[in-house]
Amino acid sequence: MENNKEMGSALPAGSLASPVKITPEKITPAKIIWKKTDAPSMKLHWESAVPFLSFEALDSLGMFMNAFSTRLGGVSTGDEMASMNLSFARGDDEESVRENFRRMAHSAGFAPEDIVMAAQTHTANVRIVTEEDRGNGITRRKPYADVDGLSTNVPGLVLCTSYADCVPLFFADPVKKVIALSHSGWKGTQKKIGKVTVEAMTKAFGSRPEDIYAAIGPSICQDCYEVSEDVIDAFRQAFARDIWEKIFYAKENGRYQLNLWEANREVFREAGITDAHISLPNLCTRCNSALLYSHRAAGENEGRLAAFLSIRS
Ligand SMILES: [Zn+2]
Repeated sequence: MENNKEMGSALPAGSLASPVKITPEKITPAKIIWKKTDAPSMKLHWESAVPFLSFEALDSLGMFMNAFSTRLGGVSTGDEMASMNLSFARGDDEESVRENFRRMAHSAGFAPEDIVMAAQTHTANVRIVTEEDRGNGITRRKPYADVDGLSTNVPGLVLCTSYADCVPLFFADPVKKVIALSHSGWKGTQKKIGKVTVEAMTKAFGSRPEDIYAAIGPSICQDCYEVSEDVIDAFRQAFARDIWEKIFYAKENGRYQLNLWEANREVFREAGITDAHISLPNLCTRCNSALLYSHRAAGENEGRLAAFLSIRS
């Protein structure tokens, strides 16, 4: 981000109350390809002013806001950005991105000024954020780098991470009232950022793994995710041999199909989270590239989706 002006300064007060109702032209609910899962998953809020997804298991806890954006309902233009790009780092018009954040925030029920953004570089670094971090990446520059996970116990702070195929990990502890949100691409998954995140929640706030609800958001499915042998070698080193067949298989062309969803479920189990508390994705970004941005479907210049998580204040 190149400037520090306040997120809401360009629009008059009250503008959040009257977003434009969108009528998506290219995508309808009937065209969405849903994956079957053996765990609770996400619901699409299609009738909302701006469509978004949320995990029913986290919603039902009653004390957390969770949301994941789609491509729909924003003001960004062009094949790669249209229309709900939520990244300032993709070369999109900055004021368009700000308007997109306003619309998404209005729909999901939070204030954009309360967002705290990560600084994603495929690390396994998790930062504990506090009141002082409110607005980082939105109303002002982030005073940190190399942060792929965020955790807090401050109600009202809205944790935010961005995506186009990588795996969003949501964590909510209703006992200690603590949340975390982590970005887990293949590198983060191989480094087990999901487990690092649980350990950070335990260390900072006394969370017990058995109390934590964890959820894996929309990202690339195994059918869409071909990788080379060096990636698989890294997974062989990080994961026990008896689960290899759950997370990858070899093909005749010498390459592999990697399952980041099952790998992250294994990371959750290793961290002590119970299966009954785990939600899985029912949407692949690449299978649904009209609904969701996908790096593998359209290239590095695609816009970015965003995950949001807060403790209701
Ligand atoms: Zn797919």
